[in-house]
Amino acid sequence: MRHALRSLCVYCGSAAGHDPAFADAARLLGRLMAGQGLTLVYGGGHVGLMGIIADAVLAAGGEVTGVIPRALMDSEVGHERLTRLWVVADMHERKALMAEHADGFIALPGGIGTLEELFEAMTWLQLGYHAKPIGLLNVQGFYDPLLDFLDRQVRAGFLRHEHRALLMTETDPAALLQRLRGFVMPEGVSVFSRREARNLVP
Ligand code: AMP
Repeated sequence: MRHALRSLCVYCGSAAGHDPAFADAARLLGRLMAGQGLTLVYGGGHVGLMGIIADAVLAAGGEVTGVIPRALMDSEVGHERLTRLWVVADMHERKALMAEHADGFIALPGGIGTLEELFEAMTWLQLGYHAKPIGLLNVQGFYDPLLDFLDRQVRAGFLRHEHRALLMTETDPAALLQRLRGFVMPEGVSVFSRREARNLVP
């Protein structure tokens, strides 16, 4: 079954990175999302690529939902002009809410936090806790070494080829959105059956 995409969770750096191409890609993705009526769900900060994509969606007339742990809000990094900002107790609650309120996920360039969130979404997909599309925007080849490593995991027998193939990778934001819209979870790929998975979702 194909999911209708109404909202997308975007994981990205709390820094903007050195290459201006990273910020350009975040801006373009934000504009496209607003134009396609896709609500941005993200970590609620106004720093780095996070702030850049949120501002781009808002400037183009789109909606943004931020989910931020109280501790980060208190250190005054919460974005103050979002459509809605949910302040939660901790990172676990943040990630659960972001995942629950999004119909799909995209990772832009980022650091450790971005990787952790991307791989959590992938882990949940391969297990069958959700069946939402996951995309990686590979700006300027930033993620090439990571993609090589995933291939290495497949060759070494730690990652199933069908699970590796679940991560949709594009260099162009418009192409990535189109791939996400067309995503259908292949039969028999998740570790649990869908029925079992639903019973396991907390
Ligand atoms: P990183 O890729 O290490 O820069 O981390 C990005 C992720 O870390 C974000 O998606 C947030 O979950 C979290 N994060 C780090 N710094 C902040 C901040 N100043 N405001 C909000 N979230 C942050």
